[in-house]
Amino acid sequence: MAKIPINLKTGEVNKNQELIVGIDLGTTNSLIASTVNGTSQILKDHCGNDLFVPSIIHFADDGNILVGEEARHKLIENDGITLYSIKRLLGKSFNDLSDRKKYFGYQLDEDLTEGSVRIKVRDTFYNPLELSAMLLRHLKTEAEKSTGAQINRAVISVPAYFNDAQRQTTRDAGKLAGLDVLRIINEPTAASLAYGIGVNKEESSIVAVYDLGGGTFDISILRIEDGVFDILSTRGDTYLGGDDFDMAVVEFWAKKYQIEIPTQRTLLNQLRLKAEEVRKQLNDQDSASIHWNDQLFEITISEFLQCTKTLVDRTIECARLALKDAQIAKSKINKVILVGGSTRMKIIREAVGTFFEQEVHTELNPDQAVAIGAAIQADILTGGRKDLLLLDVNPLSLGIETLGGLMDVVIPRNNKIPTQLAKEYTTSKDGQTKLKIAIYQGERDLVEHNRKLGEFVLNNIPPMPLGLPKIEVSFRVDADGILQVKAKELRSNTEQDITINSQFSLSPEEVSKMLLNSLEFAQFDMKEKGLIDAINEAEIVISHTKRFIHQNENWLDSIDVQKLKEFVEQIKDQIKNKDKNLIEKNLEQLNNFA
Ligand code: ADP
Ligand code: MG
Repeated sequence: MAKIPINLKTGEVNKNQELIVGIDLGTTNSLIASTVNGTSQILKDHCGNDLFVPSIIHFADDGNILVGEEARHKLIENDGITLYSIKRLLGKSFNDLSDRKKYFGYQLDEDLTEGSVRIKVRDTFYNPLELSAMLLRHLKTEAEKSTGAQINRAVISVPAYFNDAQRQTTRDAGKLAGLDVLRIINEPTAASLAYGIGVNKEESSIVAVYDLGGGTFDISILRIEDGVFDILSTRGDTYLGGDDFDMAVVEFWAKKYQIEIPTQRTLLNQLRLKAEEVRKQLNDQDSASIHWNDQLFEITISEFLQCTKTLVDRTIECARLALKDAQIAKSKINKVILVGGSTRMKIIREAVGTFFEQEVHTELNPDQAVAIGAAIQADILTGGRKDLLLLDVNPLSLGIETLGGLMDVVIPRNNKIPTQLAKEYTTSKDGQTKLKIAIYQGERDLVEHNRKLGEFVLNNIPPMPLGLPKIEVSFRVDADGILQVKAKELRSNTEQDITINSQFSLSPEEVSKMLLNSLEFAQFDMKEKGLIDAINEAEIVISHTKRFIHQNENWLDSIDVQKLKEFVEQIKDQIKNKDKNLIEKNLEQLNNFA
């Protein structure tokens, strides 16, 4: 194994060396770690401090974009130009968040063509993917500056409950930040790895990972056997974390000292920060106090215990349900691991220990465990630890061509094989009886830039209106790397398949060239894909509108019909001109008109 020279005092490694990293992209804080000569540690910034970066982005008046600690200082003003909790927005639609709009001190908006939420800062729209990429890029460049190494490959952690879309968005954010995402790892899996669980293949165990962060809570039960991590169950509350404990203290003080809870955001935020300070002191003191607005605010540990009891109980109830879902008795749990900054609270440690009737593990820094675990996984994947089983993985994504020449991934890159995954598609024209399935390999968003592996046609689809047929396309890769693709219309059971043997005929150089290209063109691809998505959406709307006019022309107001037809013509023109913004604007107007 190649040894990387590193100066242990400064953490500096040789220039032009590559560091492979693990990243904990958190709701509240993000961290980056790496494994050098068998030791995994958090990377430092240029001042020698741990790269523990608040997941906050501030858009300054002068056009500068601040990320991390500097942005956090701006948070107190809560002025709509400082963005936090971006992770909550990943893979969400505007409607998903409609009940929670007040939580965000900035403007959420609907991206009509993508169906996802976007954020408006002054006159510019950002999507959660771009914002996550800004955080990742910040971590990458800061670590590159301090170590002098190049960082191109990463493992990024996500909560166990993240769905495929949220995982894919996290991957794409990595790509946009110039990172080849080797794997997305579940946070509880990473935490277990950090504790050395699963490293010894012979050992098998059942572990509970209790993760209480700034604004989210989750608990997962894992079974680890033969080096494979199986998540048996996961429960949690995506709006329960340290922040709520701060607020509970504020509310307690309001009652105790008979003051009104400030309604002005800046004042409230000041008081909440004071509450957080006091709450942290209670980890090893029996009482703590602060001064705010010329007044003394005090709280004892027993008062704290009392005013946060319902919050703690909610997490314990989740733990009980997680055990029930996993059908595991408390006594069968071999280890209970605490991660997330808020598990530093003494009252949490005690409550969790009491519930599980055993000592809880807190030896590792609870902020760092997940990032360290991700770095260990990255090291395993890149062969740094020969002692560990390296599962066979699929080197490049496999997928099919969809409308407009887009690549739709069915089996993502680095998915372990053998594997079988399926996705459902449908027709794009009324009465369509055939569907071409073209199979591609690669990381670019447009199939024309990827490598074609083969194609076949699914015939004899019973004629139905567009969108009605349900066509399941399944990909199977066996242990020898042979790919079989099958398409089946589920209403009629018509099916067709193809077998491709050439999947692994790419040399490692060819694979890495394809990966590099996908990074280099990430921004370009994202734009192209955005345009194609908008055009696809527009074409559906045009066809619906035309049908609507056709069916209702007799009784519709002729002025309205005229107007609708004009809209359709306008949108057609904009499709020709490839103007995404105008297409979106007109679709919105048409929507409002209809
Ligand atoms: P996330 O996973 O959501 O990004 P973290 O794991 O970084 O969040 O946790 C952030 C939370 O940890 C904050 O609510 C913060 O108040 C809390 N926290 C950090 N340090 C301490 C401490 N010493 N004592 C108690 N709580 C702490
Ligand atoms: Mg976390």
